[in-house]
Amino acid sequence: MPEGNEIHRWAARHTEAFVGRKLRVEAPGGRFADADVIDGKVLKRVHAVGKHLGYEFGPDAILHVHLGRYGDWTEGVGELPEVKGALRVRLSLPTHPRGKAARMDGAPSDDATTKHGWYSEDDGSTSLDPKDVDWIELRGPSDCSLYDREKWQKLLARLGPDPLNGDDPAPAFAKTAKSKTPIAALLMDQSILSGIGNIYRAELLYRARLSPFLAGKDVPEKTLKAIWKDSIPLLKAGMVDRRIVTTLPKDRPHKTGKPLKPEVHYVYRRHGKPCWVCGTKVQRQEMAGRSLYWCPECQKE
Ligand SMILES: [Zn+2]
Repeated sequence: MPEGNEIHRWAARHTEAFVGRKLRVEAPGGRFADADVIDGKVLKRVHAVGKHLGYEFGPDAILHVHLGRYGDWTEGVGELPEVKGALRVRLSLPTHPRGKAARMDGAPSDDATTKHGWYSEDDGSTSLDPKDVDWIELRGPSDCSLYDREKWQKLLARLGPDPLNGDDPAPAFAKTAKSKTPIAALLMDQSILSGIGNIYRAELLYRARLSPFLAGKDVPEKTLKAIWKDSIPLLKAGMVDRRIVTTLPKDRPHKTGKPLKPEVHYVYRRHGKPCWVCGTKVQRQEMAGRSLYWCPECQKE
């Protein structure tokens, strides 16, 4: 599931590609009923809050997108590709920026397009320059619907501070200090913190050498502050190349050069393998429906 780094990355790309321009908005498969309402309107702003995207066409016309576990954007240059798969919505420039009219009939195109897989399959090296992007397509989101300002405000009110939005973390610390829930579950709770998912929570806890099972109320505030502070550059780095690298060079078997793929994480998906730092076997356990990874030695209770 994409985490905050990925959501903010899409927001930044789509801002550069489309903000201030009139967009063609289509849902050729009939999977987004309100496409007509925003079709032909100027995209004013793209918001990213935690795992939510908001494409603002007007104060009461915000296209809300939550990618969920399976959602992803595809982007491309030039003519629109053939309609395929469970296409939810397509946003495109109504005229090709180089003067060529884009085809709206869904005819196949031979133009180069770039498809994005998950971060683990894509290190960002194949990305298009966002200025060249002519269209984007959304498939598989958990939500794609039109919000009015009231609904958008309600969503924002439900979400905790987002490390990538320069928010004040105090409300997250206050909620954590009152909770008996394990810190690993709290970090993933979007009403406490926005944007942290399964990879970041595992790695942030490891980097803080904190037990994932410690109750929120037992985590010292200075540790919470350190986790928050640590999350900002880590999330930002993940926005640039879609690759979430959390290991420090000194802890990797190869201490110089670009980190090798198996060496980018301390504990995430490394269960059964030795911890880079202490050699103890990394553990895995289900917590709130998601796999939790930790080193029982470095992250003792
Ligand atoms: Zn360890």
